[in-house]
Amino acid sequence: MALDKAHWRELFSEVVTSGLCTGCAACVVACPHDVLDYESANGVYRPWHLDIDGGREGCTHGDKGCTMCTRACPRFRNWEAEIDTHRLGRERHDEEVFGVGDVLLARATDLEVRDGSQDGGFVSALLIYALEHDVIDAALVSGLEGDGTSWLAQPCVARTREDVMASAGSRYTYSANLLAYQNAVEGGAERIALVGMGCMASAPGVMQVRKAGKIARRLSLTVGLLCSKTFDDAIFEELFQARYGIARAQIVKMNIKGIFQIWTRDGAFHEIPLKEAHAFTREGCLHCPDFAAEHADISTGGIGAFGDWTLVIVRTEQGRDLLGHLVAAGAIETRPGDDDPGAVALLHKLARVSRARWPEGAVPGPRRLPLTLHG
Ligand SMILES: Cc1cc2nc3c(=O)[nH]c(=O)nc-3n(C[C@H](O)[C@H](O)[C@H](O)COP(=O)(O)OP(=O)(O)OC[C@H]3O[C@@H](n4cnc5c(N)ncnc54)[C@H](O)[C@@H]3O)c2cc1C
Ligand code: SF4
Ligand code: SF4
Repeated sequence: MALDKAHWRELFSEVVTSGLCTGCAACVVACPHDVLDYESANGVYRPWHLDIDGGREGCTHGDKGCTMCTRACPRFRNWEAEIDTHRLGRERHDEEVFGVGDVLLARATDLEVRDGSQDGGFVSALLIYALEHDVIDAALVSGLEGDGTSWLAQPCVARTREDVMASAGSRYTYSANLLAYQNAVEGGAERIALVGMGCMASAPGVMQVRKAGKIARRLSLTVGLLCSKTFDDAIFEELFQARYGIARAQIVKMNIKGIFQIWTRDGAFHEIPLKEAHAFTREGCLHCPDFAAEHADISTGGIGAFGDWTLVIVRTEQGRDLLGHLVAAGAIETRPGDDDPGAVALLHKLARVSRARWPEGAVPGPRRLPLTLHG
């Protein structure tokens, strides 16, 4: 069926049940008839159609012409080529394995921000600046349920510096931050930043090119997080607790630097080989081709030799402009990406590994690599 007619029926067969669905929730928040819901319990991160108006596989609103879910989905058909052509006037070249953008290193100058964040605190510094300087009204981020001891990541809205710092740091289970969109809008936000991994970071771009209306306009800034995978919640009990005796309530921070690093309340530091964690990979990540959040305005990661710096890829004019303001205001300090050639090499390598996961039967674009990099 032509793209301009395709709706939930096509999304269900071509994405939701084909292995391509990442669980980003873009279709759920874009649906104007509220017939899509989202399953996040028991490790399932999937949209589903309420048992009204067309049942599980169909949609009566879609039959009458509504196509919002396929307009919003960053894995439907030729998503990558469409976004790139809209933004760059061309498709990605094969060599551009991590997308298009300039690499640098950055960190927050405010020590409180840096110490409370995952790597260099760049994302938090950016959000605080954007909120306090009338660039955005709210940001969709990931918090933790309750007092944080359950380590259950949940989408939430940041409107103040305090909200940003309460949600700083990385959780390695999934958080479909887009689900906080309605909450942000109900609070009056019109310019909304989205923080998310590549699967979510392509949603605003695809919504813009496929003209998904108000939601496409409101998602006005996208901050991407580099990402190879997220894990099922079972990793806490079945790996950390069962094999290493680390109770989830004891964990204060986690990071992945080629190895799972875990800090606990008693001041201890634990290292767990990543290969032991692979069995807990979330299903929605298995075919994901986008390590570097290629369609964000600015992408950020923790790879590299400098632990308290964030690796930053500036991708759009808007991202470049905002970065310039952050530097001018003294909110961040930067250094060239060339200071850490190993990080840039690893960025290429991990981006290549992710692209090879995209299924051969799907549109070929996201799998494309330079000939020298195949195999
Ligand atoms: C699941 C996941 C996997 C990652 N994998 C890699 C990787 O393989 N290589 C790499 O270089 N970098 C990876 N990162 C990025 C890295 O961990 C840092 O987020 C990034 O370097 C920014 O650091 P910062 O100090 O500037 O961020 P901070 O200032 O600490 O801000 C981090 C932001 O991320 C949001 N966030 C935290 N957890 C989640 C989540 N689960 N889902 C959505 N949003 C979240 C927070 O709410 C906050 O807004 C990953 C991040 C996540 C969340
Ligand atoms: S990838 Fe995202 S938008 Fe597409 S079907 Fe899955 S949850 Fe919906
Ligand atoms: S690997 Fe990361 S970016 Fe890809 S689907 Fe999983 S969480 Fe999203």
